[in-house]
Amino acid sequence: MTNNDTQSNNSAFPNLLAPLDLGFTTLINRTLMGSMHTGLEEEKGGFDKLAAFYEARAKGGVGLIVTGGISPNARGRLTPLGCELSKFWHVNKHKKITRAVHQYPTKICLQLLHAGRYSYHPFSFAPSKVKSPINPFTPSAMSVRQIKGTIKDFAHSASLAQKAGYDGVEIMGSEGYLINQFSCIRVNKRTDEWGGSVENRMRLAISIVKAVRAKVGEKFIIIFRQSMLDLVEGGNSWEDVVTMAKAVEAAGATLINTGIGWHEARVPTISTSVPRAAFTWITEKMKQEVSIPLVTTNRINTPEVAEEVLSKGHADVVSMARPFLADAEFVKKSLENKSDEINTCIGCNQACLDHVFQQKRASCLVNPTACYETELTFDKAKKNKRIAVVGAGPAGLAFSVYAAQRGHKVEIFDRANEIGGQFNFAKQVPGKEEFYETIRYFNKQISLYDIKVHLSTEATADDLTKNGFDEIVIATGILPRKLDIEGIEHEKVKSYLDVLRDKQPIGKNVAIIGAGGIGFDVAVFLAEEHEKSPLVNDKAQWLKNWGVDQNYQNKGALLDKSTGANIERTPRNIHLLQRKLSKVGAGLGKTTGWIHRATLQKNGVKMLAGVSYKKIDDLGLTIEIDGKEQVLDVDHVIICAGQESQRGLYQQLESNKGTEQGLHLIGGAKVAAELDAKRAIRQAAELAAII
Ligand code: FAD
Ligand code: NAP
Ligand code: SF4
Repeated sequence: MTNNDTQSNNSAFPNLLAPLDLGFTTLINRTLMGSMHTGLEEEKGGFDKLAAFYEARAKGGVGLIVTGGISPNARGRLTPLGCELSKFWHVNKHKKITRAVHQYPTKICLQLLHAGRYSYHPFSFAPSKVKSPINPFTPSAMSVRQIKGTIKDFAHSASLAQKAGYDGVEIMGSEGYLINQFSCIRVNKRTDEWGGSVENRMRLAISIVKAVRAKVGEKFIIIFRQSMLDLVEGGNSWEDVVTMAKAVEAAGATLINTGIGWHEARVPTISTSVPRAAFTWITEKMKQEVSIPLVTTNRINTPEVAEEVLSKGHADVVSMARPFLADAEFVKKSLENKSDEINTCIGCNQACLDHVFQQKRASCLVNPTACYETELTFDKAKKNKRIAVVGAGPAGLAFSVYAAQRGHKVEIFDRANEIGGQFNFAKQVPGKEEFYETIRYFNKQISLYDIKVHLSTEATADDLTKNGFDEIVIATGILPRKLDIEGIEHEKVKSYLDVLRDKQPIGKNVAIIGAGGIGFDVAVFLAEEHEKSPLVNDKAQWLKNWGVDQNYQNKGALLDKSTGANIERTPRNIHLLQRKLSKVGAGLGKTTGWIHRATLQKNGVKMLAGVSYKKIDDLGLTIEIDGKEQVLDVDHVIICAGQESQRGLYQQLESNKGTEQGLHLIGGAKVAAELDAKRAIRQAAELAAII
């Protein structure tokens, strides 16, 4: 029995923590850190930071890491200056990563990704000249010479990865990138030996796997990430997917990883509203077809869920990407049976994917140290201080935990009877239940670091100054903005707090003023607050609502429109209003805004832009659009019109002349405009690192 057997047998997660023998090498457990582009790949000096990023995850016990996608040649780059591994002189910087990781028993594979028509530059190419709906550049169709050159480039790149010390490569064949474009008629319109029949369409994938295997020998991991559900029109049938998986196995792959949906698919696949482990059934289906180990993926964010997936036999390995951004010690804490200490990924995409799409460095909303391992650190403080923190919202909580880690003695005061601040309202929104996990995490950290919490306590300037604290941190958050509209005092008018916090009864006809993040959340809350609403945790119902065919009757695994549209809509009539002329919801997250809009559209919510608010009276809400007045006959008008900083206490303390105490302002209390938890938590962490 190996060390790992002993560890896994003693743990609450025996399947997840069991080793996996790949014949020529062994993975220490069944966790795979899925590929994530971080933006550090292209930053000056970024590889040192990347090495620290991966090292922290290896130290935390991950079994196998897959790097962010690296192109095998210039034309396959995601962006004009995207990262590429094609020249011998590229090898050295990769050695920094492999050396850092190999201080631990973790294995690491480099992902080879050719973006095809998803390349964001004018030199992109694809099987055919078919533009993607999510990219302004039209690709040119590849010549046979270019196809053959690309196969060689993959093999060459893999051999360079081997020289750099990687344990293997992952060949990216899913999510709508080049290999996936070849495998589906959606983009592949060719009539030569690279298009038409499934054998021709998968020829590129199989040729690449064979060429890589021939170049790197037998003792090198090859993972093929295969699109098992394309979720787009013109995607593959299940029979095609199986034919390809069998051919990939025969061509010499070591593992097959699961890919779910093209980037242009209109089915959410990883956002927080996707039920946990919603897609593992497709890997389970594939397990009956091939004999090499299979990796499953998507919205698996706790060791409990991962263990369940493995124990049910859905896969041999579980890939989690964002959960390792949120907590580098995910595996270590699982091994030590301390899963309640894990900082759980809430699936928000706000600091990871949304950043990558804006070409900014990725990080994590709940863990701002992710990708900042060398820059944001919490070393022991030279002088341990007594610190008072007012406000137990995300800003106050994050500050307290990081400051306590540095050895400070922290006390938190909050007038509410529970910690969490506005996260307690966010967690009420259907599809945002993950916010409970962040509050659970902070509660656990508070007890681990012996932070004193005074709930139901209004902090006053007097108490704070008299109590001998060295520093006072004000994290009192925000108050909903009050509007100056005729009739604003009418009994029809409610705030989002009346709805989400106080659960006041709301009528059938509703107008929501303000279509920011909270306006959308309130609309979802009201739309889905009816008896027969689709349960977010009922996976089968959720998949049906989004048009996914679990029986795989149609190509791409999409239901017929008529079936998919057969969803019960909310019985409420909801109007979501904004003054701006831009598309309603345009300011929401880059990778999640469309999901919020689609959810409301499915529920028949009317979204109106360019609205002027005239008055509220017994008749309802009078508005004007394009110079035309109309009355919305509504029972309630709910105000979600942004927020203002709550700073009275700070101002009082500031005016208390003569105090020796340090005074700091963070989170919504500092700046309310465009505030979100990402900014609140990062700001708190940055202060805690230096106080
Ligand atoms: P708050 O969370 O407002 O916390 C302030 C705390 O201070 C409160 O607990 C309050 O009781 C306490 N307090 C105030 N004055 C005193 C006093 N004098 N004495 C004692 N205690 C006091 N952000 C995202 O990034 N992503 C999302 O998806 C998201 N969804 C949201 C959904 C909803 C419905 C809502 C309402 C907000 C959402 N937000 C989201 C916003 C996010 O919650 C806020 O940006 C974040 O909570 C701000 O953190 P904070 O700590 O600055 O303030
Ligand atoms: P917000 O996003 O700034 O939206 C405020 C809305 O109110 C806007 O639609 C604005 O549109 C309207 N408004 C502003 N002033 C107004 C006025 N005087 N009269 C009438 N309407 C007015 O703020 P929020 O919705 O309160 O959200 C707060 C923060 O929480 C946001 O920054 C957001 O990032 C975060 N959050 C994020 C999510 C998420 O899913 N990522 C969800 C919830 C909240 P017009 O000016 O065009 O009318
Ligand atoms: Fe998860 Fe949000 Fe962090 Fe991304 S930013 S890793 S989705 S918690």
